[in-house]
Parts: sequence; C-alpha cells; structure tokens
Amino acid sequence: MAEVYRGFKETQVPNLTNEQIDELAQNYAVGYCSSILEKPRPIDIDDFMEFYLGLEVEVHFLSHNGMYLGVTVFEDTDFFPIYNLFKNQAEFISVKGGTVIIDELQDRGYEPRTRFTKAHECGHFIMHKDFFQGSSICLYSKCESAIIADDLKVIERQADRFAAGLLMPRDAVIDMSKRMWRYGYEDDEIVYCIQETFNVSRQAAEYRLKDLDLIG
Ligand SMILES: [Zn+2]
Repeated sequence: MAEVYRGFKETQVPNLTNEQIDELAQNYAVGYCSSILEKPRPIDIDDFMEFYLGLEVEVHFLSHNGMYLGVTVFEDTDFFPIYNLFKNQAEFISVKGGTVIIDELQDRGYEPRTRFTKAHECGHFIMHKDFFQGSSICLYSKCESAIIADDLKVIERQADRFAAGLLMPRDAVIDMSKRMWRYGYEDDEIVYCIQETFNVSRQAAEYRLKDLDLIG
C-alpha cells in the first residue's frame, strides 16, 4: 500500500502538491486493482473502502437539507450528530473511528457523484488523520460558505484532487487522451469517454482533463 507523504507544516495540513496527490491516488488505485492503468475501468469504490482501506461505511441523514455530502470519522465517538427524518429532530449516535458516513440524500442520488464523495472521504482518511486529530470529524460540505478557514479549504481541495486521481488515475487518463488525439477526437468526445470509462460525472471528467492540461 502506498505511503502517505508526511511533510506536514505546523498546521498539520499535509504539504502535498497536486502532482504528489495524483501519484498517491494512482498508487492506491493500482494497489487495489493492478491492471487499472492498462485496462481502464471504474474502481469499485465500496469494495475499495471496505476491504482495501478497512473503513466502515454507513448511510445517515447528516442534516435536514443535504448540506453535508459525507463525513469521515477518525476517532470513536458516542456523540455524532445526525438528523432523524422520522422524528424530524437531531440526535446523537455512536460511531467507530475509521467510519465514513454518506448522506442518505446523496446516497440515493446520481451514482457518479456518490462515488466521488466516497473517494473524497477516502482522501481525507488517507491524508488528513493528523489534521483532524482531536477534532475527530471532517465534514464534507457542499455549502461553500460553511468552509471558512483557509486550512479547511486546502484540505477540501486536496481531498477532491485525491478523489479525481483515484477514480481517474493520471497515467490512464493521459494514455486515453493521447490515443484519442491521434485519431482526431474533439475535447468533448474525450470528456465523454473519460466519463463513461470511469463512471464519473461529466463535470468531474472535464475538471480532471483540464487539471492535467489535456483539454483546453
Ligand atoms: Zn472533505
């Protein structure tokens, strides 16, 4: 299994470049599925989480309005807040450290997005244990304004980059793009091909290709 780069700054935000995160994520993807670069396909993210990383995966309503997509719980807690839909109230549950909780609305939604959320939480679990030590949870929020601190913005971006790199391993994406260029495919067609090959959203495929400078 790949080693996490441990060049922490004082704030415990891992000092990782995008290229290092791509490398890390690709090492995890290949460690789990050795032929993924030669035979690009969607990673089985549930199996990866449970059996490769040893994470528990649970589904709960994290809020009444779906503002949180997923959460990584690093340490045991008896006071994890969730929303009880049937009682229409918040309540606490016990959760073991090493658990990822996916919001129920998200879990019932568009599969490629749920896959990205899960991969994002894997990124936190792998890269951000030290950052969250003592605070015990990380909220992955789709509500931008809820993320105030700069450090949190950085770790969210890192987890997104990890998710993209795990679901769409760098070398496989580069190979596919180059092959398609040779045959004269347009950017749109390359985006579609990446989307279909890796079971990601169109937006995730487009960002990935732009981040790797493979489309304009
Ligand atoms: Zn997050």
